[in-house]
Amino acid sequence: MPAHHFIANTRLPVSDALTIPVIDPADGQAFDRIARGSPDDIDRAVQAAQAAMGAQFDGPWAMTCARDRGRLLAAWGRAVLAEADELARLEARDTGKTLRTARNDVTALARYFEYYAGACDKLHGETLPYDTGTLVMTVREPHGVTGHIIPWNYPVQIFGRSVGASLAAGNACVVKPAEDASLSTLYLAEMAARVGFPPGALNVVTGYGHEAGAALSAHPGVRHISFTGSTATGQQVAAAAARHHCPVVLELGGKSPQIVFEDADLDAALPVVVNAIIQNSGQTCSAGSRLLVHESIHDAFVERVAERFRALRAGPPASDADLGPLVNRKQYERVRGLLDAARDEGLAEAARGRILDGVPPDGYYQEAVLFRDVPAGSVLAREEIFGPVLITQAFRDEAHALALANATDYGLVAGVWTRDGARQLRMARHLRCGQVFINNYGAGGGVELPFGGVKSSGHGREKGFEALLGFTALKTVAIRYGQQA
Ligand code: NAD
Repeated sequence: MPAHHFIANTRLPVSDALTIPVIDPADGQAFDRIARGSPDDIDRAVQAAQAAMGAQFDGPWAMTCARDRGRLLAAWGRAVLAEADELARLEARDTGKTLRTARNDVTALARYFEYYAGACDKLHGETLPYDTGTLVMTVREPHGVTGHIIPWNYPVQIFGRSVGASLAAGNACVVKPAEDASLSTLYLAEMAARVGFPPGALNVVTGYGHEAGAALSAHPGVRHISFTGSTATGQQVAAAAARHHCPVVLELGGKSPQIVFEDADLDAALPVVVNAIIQNSGQTCSAGSRLLVHESIHDAFVERVAERFRALRAGPPASDADLGPLVNRKQYERVRGLLDAARDEGLAEAARGRILDGVPPDGYYQEAVLFRDVPAGSVLAREEIFGPVLITQAFRDEAHALALANATDYGLVAGVWTRDGARQLRMARHLRCGQVFINNYGAGGGVELPFGGVKSSGHGREKGFEALLGFTALKTVAIRYGQQA
């Protein structure tokens, strides 16, 4: 199929000169091409979305009632489940994630559509007490055209939570997927057209961030932007959007702690602590990348973690490996560069997994690596690595654990393992982050749980009903009906 954008339910093919190769991270070879979108393509997509909304919110999509929006989302969710295997295979090949992870992502995507399908007609305003003879009510309206800039680490999940919520609220969407992982987004857009979304409700322009992404954030027709990605790019997107007073939700990086107290159920904690850093090969914004352990159990617990690390295998997505390859050469070199910097600092590895025999030589395979007793000033303690690299630090007491946990610019997630109920509440109260997980990490990723950061991890919330509210503008209507004569 020729490389194309998908605008107003129509494929818009581009010439070969305007394409970007799609690389399989498992072998480093190109297997497809996507379109390299320009500012003109973004403009076309925004115009299609504007037409779906109508200038007075009287276009076909704006006139689709909440119940029918819900039915469309529900049908889309069912179609996703019916084609889950194909979608997961595509996602695994494009991103390098294991087929198992890709399958989980697709299941989560369907669940986002199901959740937001049911939420469409529960999104209502209020009536407010005010002067006698005046009725005041609030109405939740869509923003209009929303822009969605999506990263490569969880393409379908992030699409589901952001586009699902926005369409449920009645907006028309323009999506710019990551140049490293656009295929599933194009697939989903075709599916949306097939299940009956009207032209312009969902539009996809692929391409580079500094071209298509920058044009989308700067387009004055876009009235809300949802961005997930790096902190530096998030700042650029927010700055561009500010020039046309466009609200932005930023879901950025993290350097999230997992804190294990001496009274914790260590058998329960062990597999969760390891999974929190190796899932998706560590390319997860909420990865639990710093393991803080009470000094009385640090060495023994870390040795158990090390044992698990030594058994971890990196390999192709379709194998039974624990970790797939990293997404692209840039990411691979970045992770290796950080590991070199750690060695230059004199940090010694406590454990390293392995790469399966016979993997293609040009694939981006990175073993899981564990460093113990890493000083707070080290590059590994400060920088988001976005790879399967875990560091440990020992703490003396609760206050020290909190100080270490909060000593980063990020504030996305924290995990806490303790049986002490009062301590659970104190930790939840004082950890500076968007979500705290106690005796678990991620709570199974439920779509109902609002998700987002504080500090450099961003602002605004995705997932759950909270996200739906963010995709609306509140209108206050005051009706003066007077008093009986
Ligand atoms: P990035 O932030 O540059 O890319 C994310 C998305 O933003 C992509 O769709 C990209 O095309 C787009 N983009 C890039 N520049 C843009 C611009 N100027 N204007 C508008 N959109 C733009 O991330 P990256 O370069 O692919 O990865 C670099 C680092 O970012 C990673 O090592 C990791 O630390 C972090 N990251 C975080 C997440 C997350 O979930 N929070 C996801 C991906 C990457």
